[in-house]
Amino acid sequence: MNSFSPNMLKTFENCQKKYYFKYVQNISVPQPVSFFEKGKNIHALANYYLKGADISKLLPALSPEEKQIWQKLLENEFFQKTYVNSEYNLSAKINDFWVGGRLDALMKDGDDYFILDYKTGAIPKNPEYDYQTMVYLICADRVLKNYNSLKFIYIDLKNNKNYVIDFYSEKKVQYVEYLTKICNKISQTLEFDLSSEKCKFCEYAKFCY
Ligand code: SF4
Repeated sequence: MNSFSPNMLKTFENCQKKYYFKYVQNISVPQPVSFFEKGKNIHALANYYLKGADISKLLPALSPEEKQIWQKLLENEFFQKTYVNSEYNLSAKINDFWVGGRLDALMKDGDDYFILDYKTGAIPKNPEYDYQTMVYLICADRVLKNYNSLKFIYIDLKNNKNYVIDFYSEKKVQYVEYLTKICNKISQTLEFDLSSEKCKFCEYAKFCY
């Protein structure tokens, strides 16, 4: 049975050629280390902190900018909720497919649950219908079963803002429909569209003809 991550779905929608390189031919192209460094450090620190580890030895290694970002995250109202899990792998079966991914953190306040996603860069253009949002909410809904409310929170650490997405039954139906549609489309694709023109800012540009 086919299984898809939000990244796979997004890649297919944006460029089938890239999807073909990355997920069919399994060509892996490492990004420059500096590209993700800041985000990776903050994510790792947040995970240790939430799991109750002693982070005092890690803090001096942060750059001044990372220290500021870390402080913003510590002060964030959603990051201060009750911890449920972090770096949390979840999956859910949707019709004939599995979708899943790893949540930055799941927090709660009584029976109200919050999926947190820390962003040191930009938040998605259309956050409510981003594949990550849809997949994580559907997965959390399956695992939690009984809850009062469930929300997805993009924590925009650059601008110190939260983008809050509510989840309710109509949206659940809509998300399942969207996810089924794209999963079906991928699994029925026998020939990928390789006609796109090479672009500048893609890590696969050197394979692109
Ligand atoms: S360079 Fe552009 S066309 Fe080629 S794989 Fe990347 S995104 Fe697609």
